[in-house]
Amino acid sequence: MPAAGPAEPVVADGEAVIELRGLCKWYPLRQRVLDTLLGRTPRYLRAVDGVSFGVRAGEVLGVAGESGCGKSTTGMTAIHLHAPTAGEILFDGRPVGDSAAELREFRRHAQIVFQNPYESLNPRFTVADSIREPLAIHFPRQHDRQERMLLQAMERAGLTPVDDYLDRFPHQLSGGQLQRIAIARAIAVQPRFLVADEPVSMLDVSIRAGILNLFRHFSSELQMAILYISHDLSTMRHVCSRVAIMYLGRIVEMGTATQVLDAPLHPYARALMAAAPVMTNRSRERIELKGAVPNPADMPAGCRFHPRCPRATDVCRTIEPALEATDAERVVACHLYRSGSGPGTAPLAAAAAHHQGEGNAIA
Ligand code: SF4
Repeated sequence: MPAAGPAEPVVADGEAVIELRGLCKWYPLRQRVLDTLLGRTPRYLRAVDGVSFGVRAGEVLGVAGESGCGKSTTGMTAIHLHAPTAGEILFDGRPVGDSAAELREFRRHAQIVFQNPYESLNPRFTVADSIREPLAIHFPRQHDRQERMLLQAMERAGLTPVDDYLDRFPHQLSGGQLQRIAIARAIAVQPRFLVADEPVSMLDVSIRAGILNLFRHFSSELQMAILYISHDLSTMRHVCSRVAIMYLGRIVEMGTATQVLDAPLHPYARALMAAAPVMTNRSRERIELKGAVPNPADMPAGCRFHPRCPRATDVCRTIEPALEATDAERVVACHLYRSGSGPGTAPLAAAAAHHQGEGNAIA
């Protein structure tokens, strides 16, 4: 069993509904015969490798990064759809146990909306059947309560008039309507923590805003803690109060949405922002990322981003930077922002000033 990666600073731990501490999800790789004969230690694909954060009630925390960075695995592990390899999940400050009864109780409070509404609903179930299914599991033999919660969830998801949808099947509905049904199904049990995994990426641009507004409403009016996963930074700006950037299984920068989206510090976050489309003709930084995300089974030594980083130095190739606070609300894992002194480090304030001096603020 692999040991957990170093626990990173936890932001918002005080009142967090959900808190991840050093969460890891590693998948064992098939051992080659030669490796077995030579007694080499087993290799793992480290999809999530020491992730720590908390999400408060009424907050939307965005998690961004390229495909293969571990965003979705983090979301699914956070609600225990995948058992963590190491680390802890705390709900209301208490560790989530792994007995069947504890997990059932946890899942009543922690739900997920997947990316593809065409695959997340049973084609043989009517809308009412799909939404009623989790209610029957969590509130058995309480039929009146189930019906009340079903209707309330549909109204909250904007499926009105409710009677127009109850007896319809998935093939009779549009992509946007299907995603609203998937959302109604997830919120029917009135969870306090909701993972939204790329919930609008398969929908027409014209209907995305309506779906995103639902998540804003759930956080502000229902005080849900929401983990919003997306590779689309423009939608993050619309819904998130804080944003975390992930690279190869770790968080490399996390702060308020304004900090991370308007003035990212980590070179990877800056490159993502430079590539994001903007509705303005103001000039902005151009950063070209070399290559693609490496296979997590072949993790680079030192800083995981160094093979692609335009600012890599010798220390980056040997020492992995830890997340460090740059102010009360932001943490960054990069040697450019280390607060200590030593080989390859720069005092935090000087490094930040140097970075800003390059005109790195994204227009
Ligand atoms: S630690 Fe070095 S390689 Fe990693 S992001 Fe910072 S400058 Fe780039």
